[in-house]
Amino acid sequence: MSTKPSLDYIDRQTYFGRVAGYPLVVDLEGRKCVVIGGGGVAERKVEGLLAADAMVTVVSPRLSQRLETRVTNGEIQHHRRRYQRGDLAGASLAFVATGDPRLAATVAREGRSRGVWVNAADDPEHCDFFLEPRPDRRDAPPDCGGRAARSAGATALEPGGRVSAGIVYIVGAGPGDPGLITVRGLELLRRADVVVHDRLVSGKLLDEAPPQARRVFVGKACGAHSLPQREINALLIDEARRGHRVVRLKGGDPFVFGRGGEEALALAEAGVAFEVVPGVTSAVAVPAAAGIPLTHRGLASSFAVVTGHRQAGEDEPVDWGRLARGVDTLVVVMGLANLPTIVRELIANGRDPDTPAALIERGTTEAQRTVTATLATLADAATAARLEAPVLAVIGQVVSLRAVLAG
Ligand code: SAH
Repeated sequence: MSTKPSLDYIDRQTYFGRVAGYPLVVDLEGRKCVVIGGGGVAERKVEGLLAADAMVTVVSPRLSQRLETRVTNGEIQHHRRRYQRGDLAGASLAFVATGDPRLAATVAREGRSRGVWVNAADDPEHCDFFLEPRPDRRDAPPDCGGRAARSAGATALEPGGRVSAGIVYIVGAGPGDPGLITVRGLELLRRADVVVHDRLVSGKLLDEAPPQARRVFVGKACGAHSLPQREINALLIDEARRGHRVVRLKGGDPFVFGRGGEEALALAEAGVAFEVVPGVTSAVAVPAAAGIPLTHRGLASSFAVVTGHRQAGEDEPVDWGRLARGVDTLVVVMGLANLPTIVRELIANGRDPDTPAALIERGTTEAQRTVTATLATLADAATAARLEAPVLAVIGQVVSLRAVLAG
């Protein structure tokens, strides 16, 4: 089989959770390729194979209308029956597009014995190779594996006239320690063309992007973006439309006070392919790193994460009364500047002023600092310690465990 390297493959190993993989573009001109199945999935395989000038044989008792037309036109061969051992004879590649895992296993066995590579749709276990997911084809799922990138029309023409698809990965960078990004997030970062990041993202993580990748810094601290959200959205859309693989790297989890939801909505509206890669949120990881479990038998059976930074008239107000009475452990992000108000509201709404509380600065990093106090003394403790953002507050009986757990 003659091969030449592909320039525009989309990280199939990350799509399919595989670590190792070898990108190829296969020359199929005049080669026999067998497609087992006659429905929509088979149709897509056939279209792709015909576009590559392969000689296509379809095996299926029934065919979709479009495939019937292709048979009538003499564009593909057809065996109107179920698969039989021997159908892969002389083939270069075989595709199982029936959704039947037992059939996929049987075909995979024949493939192995004949040295024919087999791809089984949505069944990575029986795939010798994967197809490039095509985010430029609406609703086309990846051809193997289960994780579909949102598909839409983000395409760009490369110099050779070839169409390549751009995509935006909205990736959670984790709480600060560069080791706390997910495996998938890191893999995508290492293949990014463009990285669009906030301040809370560790410089060590940015070093993981390829040297030639463009890094675009778009945020000051949280809540105070140096680039308005609208412009960040426009930038992501524009870069994807140029055919780039864009990693939008956000502190913690992108969907926890990260405005990731707004970016995803903007991309969806613009018809740009995107995928959200969750992250380890600081709301949970930072207390853990400071020796504070958010729940603990006998002490706390619920926790809430709340922002201490709401802009009057712009954001929906926080219901401190309900939080004071209805939740055991409170985690407050972006609350440093408003601590006096937050403390006053909680106590006024019935929270015990002696409730143990902690403030954690730059949690999970080498510079992590923790200050403990009570609810009543929390604001003064922050001032005395000269804490600076990012700081997260934890209020609740669980904070008392820190004395034992913070080693
Ligand atoms: N999406 C992020 C939160 C963004 S809001 C996440 O899931 O973690 C930013 C706020 O998160 C900061 O103001 C601070 O309150 C908190 N925060 C983020 N990283 C932090 C860290 N390393 N230490 C302490 N607080 C942190």
